[in-house]
Amino acid sequence: MCGIVGYIGEEQAAPLLLTGLEKLEYRGYDSAGLCLNDNGALVVKKSKGKLEVLKNLTDDGKILHGTVGIGHTRWATHGEPSDVNAHPHLSESGRFAVVHNGIIENYIFLREMLMSRGLSFRSNTDTEVIAQLFEYYYKGDIMDTVIRVMSKLDGSYALGILCRDNPDEIIAVRKESPLIIGLGEKENYIASDIPAILDKTRNIYRLENNEIAVIKRDSVQIFNTDKMPVKKETEKIDWDIHAAEKDGYEHFMFKEIMEQPKAFLNTIHPHLKNGRVVLDEIHLSAEEIRSFRKINILACGSAYHVGVVAKYVFEKILRIPVEADLASEFRYRDPIVDDKTLTIVISQSGETADTKEAMKEAQRRGSHVIAIVNVLGSAIAKESDDVIYTMAGPEIAVATTKAYSTQLAVIYLMALYFGDLLGKISPEEYQIYLQELQTIPDKIQQILDNREQVQYLASRLFNAEDIFFIGRNIDYALSLEGSLKLKEISYIHSEAYAAGELKHGTISLIEKGTLVIALATHEELISKTRSNMVEVHSRGAYILCLTTEKHQDLKSVAQSTIFLPQTCDMMLPSLAVIPLQLFAYYVAALKGCDIDKPRNLAKSVTVE
Ligand code: GLU
Repeated sequence: MCGIVGYIGEEQAAPLLLTGLEKLEYRGYDSAGLCLNDNGALVVKKSKGKLEVLKNLTDDGKILHGTVGIGHTRWATHGEPSDVNAHPHLSESGRFAVVHNGIIENYIFLREMLMSRGLSFRSNTDTEVIAQLFEYYYKGDIMDTVIRVMSKLDGSYALGILCRDNPDEIIAVRKESPLIIGLGEKENYIASDIPAILDKTRNIYRLENNEIAVIKRDSVQIFNTDKMPVKKETEKIDWDIHAAEKDGYEHFMFKEIMEQPKAFLNTIHPHLKNGRVVLDEIHLSAEEIRSFRKINILACGSAYHVGVVAKYVFEKILRIPVEADLASEFRYRDPIVDDKTLTIVISQSGETADTKEAMKEAQRRGSHVIAIVNVLGSAIAKESDDVIYTMAGPEIAVATTKAYSTQLAVIYLMALYFGDLLGKISPEEYQIYLQELQTIPDKIQQILDNREQVQYLASRLFNAEDIFFIGRNIDYALSLEGSLKLKEISYIHSEAYAAGELKHGTISLIEKGTLVIALATHEELISKTRSNMVEVHSRGAYILCLTTEKHQDLKSVAQSTIFLPQTCDMMLPSLAVIPLQLFAYYVAALKGCDIDKPRNLAKSVTVE
């Protein structure tokens, strides 16, 4: 998920690799490292922390010699950020060095297999198994070895590989994680992202899934896994560096919105095994789980809105009372929490001060805490009792999108896992939910592919001064997030209201032309929300309605309607949030706002 750079040419590689890695710093990372082939020996230098540390360690690369090398900035997914867990990883004898972006899902199995055959491991990463597999299968032919290793790996990977015996080549492989090859004069590069090589060359090949590249100083050959050569067209990149950082999109937020199908898939996939949800991270016996009388969810901002969705989902499926609490409130109100309360805390950064302190308060009162966190090794991840990671990858834009979506994904996994364990869902329902869960990434993609409609609506409505988001039940939870997203980045005042609550006061604010975004996805309550739509329309509101495909009739009540693919009620927020994020984005773009860095806001709120 983070940065790879490789160089083969006639110049000293280390300083060039460091410069390339610097160009990827914007992505965020926790450690960095280099490996060079120095006269037939693979020499590695790596360290936790910023590139500055690595630069000091290597005297700006001067102490590393060689014209062939690979470098990496790591965003830890398996194994905490540390010197030993930083990439590159060497195989046991030091014959192979590997840098890796992505996740090897079956690494525990592979690690045990390799250990049982006598290989020993230095790090806690999933990546080290790749280096060791190379060692284990190598019989003198690198191509055979690469193909063999690839056949053993489940998950996603972009790899840069050096072999001590082949000092004049770099091997690059890709499956599900991006990797490009930069084409130069008597020199070539590999990189996970275009900015890393942009000031060296603008001619690139993009590797596709399951392609293997053999890169030498004056040639690049690409093969498929049948060893058949693949012919590629050179692509010319005309982006400037700022566009390149965002994959050609104008903002990180948009890039991250577009990454959601993959982030969602990466989050659920490691937990689905043989038709079951596996959450080995939860260290609670069935007995302990049965003993809980209440679930407490503690979070802030969008993560709190995930908690509100979770309240509806868990209460419906598990039939346990759930309280979704703002962490900043919970800490100061003498909460009623004990060892019969399960606490779930949610934080993208894992450093949110309010959430961290609320978690400690819950722990002090005897509650078991499960954290849902995106950043490995963060304070909350370390101090909670159990942690389930979202696999959103680094999120740069201040307004969260893909972290929110992956947090929801974990909530669904937990609902199924606990529901099954407590006997609250039948095996048939379990299977239906599980099937449905796996269709969500494609359905998100479908909504993203049809984004022009949202863009068009934004262009008609961006001048609104006050917007109301209304919905019932899970749609209310979603309206909280829709409203926050819009406020955060477009600075338009908006309110989220439970649709049935408007008439108890707020309806007085509805006047001719007031924009009301009505969320009507929750099957059982659509007719109720429909009545609320009629109510506000008769007071002059302009209604933009979000509903599912089969409710075409709502067109007669709303002035504009966005239709979502059908899915089970519990998972609809994952689809419905996408047009809301896009709407907020397009409105903010039309208003010329600083989308990635909205005023007064910070990405990770480490103060109270
Ligand atoms: N899963 C690997 C690790 O945790 C690679 C992480 C990355 O993509 O930076 O070491």
